[in-house]
Amino acid sequence: MKRFALAVFLSALFAAPFAAGAPIRVLLLDGESGGTYHNWRLTSRVLRAELEETGLFEVTVVSAPASSGDFSGFKPEWSRYQVVVSNLDSPEWPEALRAEFERYMAGGGGLVVVHAADNAFPGWAAYNEMIGIGGWRNRTEKAGPMWYFEGGKQVSDPAPGSAGAHGARLPFQVVAREPEHPILKGLPAAWMHVPDELYGTLRGPGKNMTVLATAHSEPANHGTGHDEPILMTVAYGKGRVFHTVLGHDVFGLSCVGFIATFQRGTEWAATGKVTQKAPAGFPTAKTVSYRADLAGMDPESSMGLRAAAPAQK
Ligand code: ZN
Repeated sequence: MKRFALAVFLSALFAAPFAAGAPIRVLLLDGESGGTYHNWRLTSRVLRAELEETGLFEVTVVSAPASSGDFSGFKPEWSRYQVVVSNLDSPEWPEALRAEFERYMAGGGGLVVVHAADNAFPGWAAYNEMIGIGGWRNRTEKAGPMWYFEGGKQVSDPAPGSAGAHGARLPFQVVAREPEHPILKGLPAAWMHVPDELYGTLRGPGKNMTVLATAHSEPANHGTGHDEPILMTVAYGKGRVFHTVLGHDVFGLSCVGFIATFQRGTEWAATGKVTQKAPAGFPTAKTVSYRADLAGMDPESSMGLRAAAPAQK
């Protein structure tokens, strides 16, 4: 009887891919990006620090080859991780690699899409389903309609044109649309985000997508005049996706509102639950709040922006 019980216990132990109480295994994926405008080596360091300080996550950083590079040695073991955080903007991947990642997600994997990761892979249909909406890299109306909020309601707009735009980096207010979602529950209904790129005219299938928060894109700052999706979740097969368009640079990532939604969104994508409490010092509807210790990880880009931070309206 005892032996039987032990056998049952052991088989349960080895059947469960991730032990209860153990840290959540995160694969932080980065690489490529044209030019120098997305410094992923630097932003990955900040994203990793933000996850690790919760004590909930064990983070492994994996840099993908450039799309023109050699993929023969690039074989991430997706199933060893509960969630993949993507800080990768790359135009394309080999088909076998795409198929493995699709299998991982459809089977119950987790994905967190940070900022320019939604520029990646315009020609990969499944990836565009996972992210819901994306921009740039020659996307047009063929990628899907634009999605935004008008009069408090979500609409999709099939008007032809390009995908992806933003004005100058200014502070803007993020407004919760699904305040009871675990990622937002207990956080303020609206908060000011630090100077950052406010993405607009993003396009995509928008299938099984829930917009958790929006921000108004001001025409005075080359904006659309619409309330643009800022935080989203997408159901992909049994997999869960959390997508944040925020975080162009280290300063954007240092916003207390970004950090909390990123930490919570990563836990949710991995487990479907959020156990983290709202942090102290959260930005209000009128005032930005950022972590100087994290912003300081990029002294070059954060110094000037820091001075601009109090200029919110
Ligand atoms: Zn950017």
